[in-house]
Amino acid sequence: MADTKHTKVLIIGSGPAGYTAGVYASRAMLEPILVQGIEPGGQLTTTTEVENWPGDTEVQGPDLMVRMEAHARAMGCEIVSDIITDLDLSKRPFTAKGDSGNTITADAVILATGARAKWLGLPSEEAFKGFGVSACATCDGFFYRGQEIVVIGGGNTAVEEALFLTNFASKVTLIHRRDELRAEMILQDRLKKHPKIEPLWFHTLEEVVGDDNPKGVTGVKVKHVETGEITEIPCAGVFVAIGHAPATELVKDTLELHNGGYVAVKPGTTETSVPGVFAAGDLTDHKYRQAVTSAGMGCMAALDAERWLAEQDD
Ligand code: FAD
Ligand code: NAP
Repeated sequence: MADTKHTKVLIIGSGPAGYTAGVYASRAMLEPILVQGIEPGGQLTTTTEVENWPGDTEVQGPDLMVRMEAHARAMGCEIVSDIITDLDLSKRPFTAKGDSGNTITADAVILATGARAKWLGLPSEEAFKGFGVSACATCDGFFYRGQEIVVIGGGNTAVEEALFLTNFASKVTLIHRRDELRAEMILQDRLKKHPKIEPLWFHTLEEVVGDDNPKGVTGVKVKHVETGEITEIPCAGVFVAIGHAPATELVKDTLELHNGGYVAVKPGTTETSVPGVFAAGDLTDHKYRQAVTSAGMGCMAALDAERWLAEQDD
């Protein structure tokens, strides 16, 4: 039977931002409820080695997230396996409806629903994800030391990823469907001057080519957008950088968004455009998109929520 519960703080999302908010809100005696969503543990459960989580030289992404969940539970956070399908922020208490049919009302809400890299949707891209195809240069660039890499896209992310990857790769080919970049001029300038980067204009990715045993990428087939001519480029890594989509489905019509659809927060805080609603992690971060920055924002959101709730009681 459908159930209704009330909490002082509802946390939506179970990535580093959500679980960290859970730890802090629990320790503030706010008895938070955290709803995990379709991907318990978030994006890091889709990767293997994480080498930039402070305190762990190397940790498996899924293991780290199991530990974060256990930590939040141990502090007293109630963790619910459900997906929020509807969130009413028009009046307080706020109301969240779950896919299970259950309802949670909350005095404050912390949104930590993350963001997703956009993919091209090619079957060969899907087949080699995690085996040479990546959407995160910071995470995976290190694995391509001395090898050739291609980057797909022409925005800030693609150019930043291409520049970053020159720290490891012998050569980076930036493949873009036009001959004009969307990226900021300063980044364009750096890209064009970089001896290791070669732009390939007017081309799209047609197919990722690779081996099965051991599984890995050996090259890409690219298509000229005007002539249709196919060229094969040898490479060990393919970084798809065609944009990120923040998971704003629940709030896109109720909260202010910025920077291409991310939830806007007051600078230096996690306060959104609706008082009592806080946002943390990749959902609000078009720039850093890292586990540690997301966790940091989860901490900020819980502290902001705690202070805001105390002000309401005054
Ligand atoms: P996410 O981790 O995106 O979690 C979002 C959560 O929200 C999920 O639990 C999801 O189920 C939940 N959710 C979404 N919608 C709903 C809903 N409607 N109801 C309830 N819950 C919902 N960063 C690093 O620092 N180091 C790395 O090595 C690294 N490697 C990466 C490798 C890969 C393959 C990827 C994809 C990312 C990697 N990142 C890495 C980036 C890092 O994973 C993200 O920055 C981080 O996970 C963002 O945390 P988050 O808490 O904001 O959101
Ligand atoms: P973006 O600006 O949307 O750029 C996406 C790029 O991918 C565009 O060049 C686009 O080509 C290309 N693309 C999209 N779909 C494609 C497809 N199906 N096939 C081939 N190419 C495709 O995304 P982003 O670079 O991730 O940036 C997102 C937001 O974050 C922006 O607001 C950006 O300024 C911001 N950001 C800022 C920083 C920074 O401040 N340092 C860093 C990263 C991101 P077209 O150009 O032809 O459309």
